[in-house]
Formats: sequence, C-alpha cells, structure tokens
Amino acid sequence: MIADWEVAKTQGVCAGCGQSLEPRQEYYAALVEGSGQTAQAEAAKEAAGQGKEEKPETSGGFERLDYCEQCWQRESPQVFCFWKTCVPEPAQKKKLLVDDEVLLQFFERLDQASERVKINFRFVLALILMRKRILKYQQTQLRDGQEFWIMGQLRQQTKHEVLNPRLDDAQIEEVSEQLSAILRSEL
Ligand SMILES: [Zn+2]
Repeated sequence: MIADWEVAKTQGVCAGCGQSLEPRQEYYAALVEGSGQTAQAEAAKEAAGQGKEEKPETSGGFERLDYCEQCWQRESPQVFCFWKTCVPEPAQKKKLLVDDEVLLQFFERLDQASERVKINFRFVLALILMRKRILKYQQTQLRDGQEFWIMGQLRQQTKHEVLNPRLDDAQIEEVSEQLSAILRSEL
C-alpha cells in the first residue's frame, strides 16, 4: 500500500526543542511509525478499550520528525529509521546534488587552471560559494589587463584569487548547467 510509505515533508522545526532548522544546519531526519499521535493519546485510547490492533489505518503510515543535533543526542528518540542531512539553501538557484565541501574542494583544485573551460568553472563555483556564504568577495585587482577577484574563505580564513572571465548572464547560466551535469554524474 503506497499510502503506508507516504512520508511527510519536513516542517523545518526540531521535534525536540521546537526551534527552526536554519539553512545549511545539519540535523537528523527520522521516520516514526504511527499516525503522529502522541504516546499519551495512544495510552488514553488503550485505556478506553481501543487496543492498538483495532486502530484504523492511518493516512500516512510514517510520521516525519526532525531533530537538531543536541536534541538527537539528548533524547535518543526511538525511530523507525533516520538519516543525517542538511537544510538546503533556499536561495540556491541551481540544485546541485553535492554538498558544500565538494564544491569547495572542486573550486580549490581548479586553482592552477589555465584552460578556458576550467577558468569558467572556477569563476561560477566562486559565485555559488559566495551565494552560500562560504566565500566572501574582498576586492578586485587588475593585472596584465586581467581582472582578479580576491576572495576570502570564511571558515579557514584562506585567500583565493579568481580570474574573472567576464561572462555574460547567458554564459554563466550555461556554465552552471555544465557544472550541475558533471557534479551529478561524476561525484
Ligand atoms: Zn532541538
């Protein structure tokens, strides 16, 4: 029965402390068997003579509960299954199927790139990482008729030079599509 495997989407709120889960925050997503009724409600029903076996089929089959790291460790809730995941960035235009670490690694490995296509990749990766607040634009330097963006990597406090290939919007779109494609298939 398909209905048994319907899984509710995240509410974006920790089931333990009720705090909202913020973009890029890691959390535990868990599936709990049942109708979403509380244990107290179940107990009350049982006390009223309605055994669990007689409970009517519920619409969902599973209830989805999300827990922040602290609540997960503290409560160790009994769940059917769970996975650790991360709240996606709502502003993220392209749905890249890799995490930030992978993007950053790719960006850093393209450091010495001299081929046009790699320079374009690196630049568009820089734009994505900037949007994700992993890189921060600091200044522009002109050298040999070329424009370099000096960018800081916030977490590790490292500096990166990014050659601006002066792509127009359509070209940026095209490069980010190519990026999505290879990140999807190769990583
Ligand atoms: Zn919590």
